[in-house]
Amino acid sequence: MSEQHLPSTGREWHLAARPDGWPVPEDFALVEAPVQAPGAGQILVRNEYLSVDPYMRGRMNDVKSYVPPFRLGAVMDGGAVGRVVASQAEGFAVGDAVLHGLGWREYATLDAAGAVKVDDSLPLRSYLGVLGMTGLTAYAGLLDVGGFKEGEAVFVSGAAGAVGSVVGQIAKLRGASLVVGSAGSPEKVRRLTEEFGFDAAFNYKDGPVAQQLAQAAPDGIDVYFDNVGGEHLEAAIGALRLHGRAVLCGAIAQYNETAPPTGPRNLALAIGKRLRLEGMLVGDHYALQPQFTAEVGGWLAEGRLTFEDTVVEGFDRTADAFLGLLRGENTGKMLVHVGG
Ligand code: NDP
Repeated sequence: MSEQHLPSTGREWHLAARPDGWPVPEDFALVEAPVQAPGAGQILVRNEYLSVDPYMRGRMNDVKSYVPPFRLGAVMDGGAVGRVVASQAEGFAVGDAVLHGLGWREYATLDAAGAVKVDDSLPLRSYLGVLGMTGLTAYAGLLDVGGFKEGEAVFVSGAAGAVGSVVGQIAKLRGASLVVGSAGSPEKVRRLTEEFGFDAAFNYKDGPVAQQLAQAAPDGIDVYFDNVGGEHLEAAIGALRLHGRAVLCGAIAQYNETAPPTGPRNLALAIGKRLRLEGMLVGDHYALQPQFTAEVGGWLAEGRLTFEDTVVEGFDRTADAFLGLLRGENTGKMLVHVGG
């Protein structure tokens, strides 16, 4: 076994209470816990960056879903990157950079089979964002599920976020005739056109989405990438052209709602327009990973695709970062830098 100086305890975030509606800081507890030395086939990782993601809100509820709920009084989990500080596993040495699923804690002891070694010539945090799960969601959602083709017009909601900002750029790089994005602040809207290369953008808080979308895309759209649901989805169904596609990726507008959503009220339009509305889970698309890494990694290296992370400093601010994500405080991927 190779190891550095090993800590006896580390901090971790527990789910303290299940929220009803919007989560509050009291729903989370910062706890000091023993750090387990790795057993045979295991590694101990000191986490450097943690991912906070919208899907975690669903895991705070005690409901059956495609990922099991967080357990009350137990440590939460999620994407993380860090460095191996002790190893009992063949092929993993102290200092190796790894991506794994035991976030929300400073130190993680896990089976090496649950970790992927990553090339640390790139910033480690990119494996949680543009080159990680959210980047692959954008790539697979637009190209595989949405069947986007050169010359088509695309509308993306949540466009300044981790997934949305990449969707819009991939669409442009693959030859979209028009890329429109919506986001929740004037600054985000400005950045969509000035920094992320969208053709048009609007603030969904400024007025009805359907009206603003009709102004931005008067001839309609071919693909809608839905991160938001509700009013956005209804507006997109109205704007989609014959044989249009809607990629149902997320519905963040309803994650903190206590009443069921009412829309979209115009679903019957899908019949005459022969629309396809298809849900997606990124986990079904890992076969695309090599193609995704080559194409998106290439665009990044050439400086043709840009990305932004919003990094919250300090492990003790992880719950704040998550709550801030739900309120729209991020542009690009929301991350926590665990720090010293
Ligand atoms: P983002 O980086 O987009 O962060 C969330 C953003 O949602 C916020 O910044 C905020 O931006 C926006 N938002 C919050 N509330 C609302 C609202 N009521 N209406 C409109 N926008 C709102 O997160 P991700 O890129 O990680 O995820 C985007 C979506 O994709 C989420 O719905 C997520 O659940 C989903 N997802 C699905 C996956 C799958 O496999 N199906 C995988 C990964 C993500 P603003 O300031 O613009 O309001």
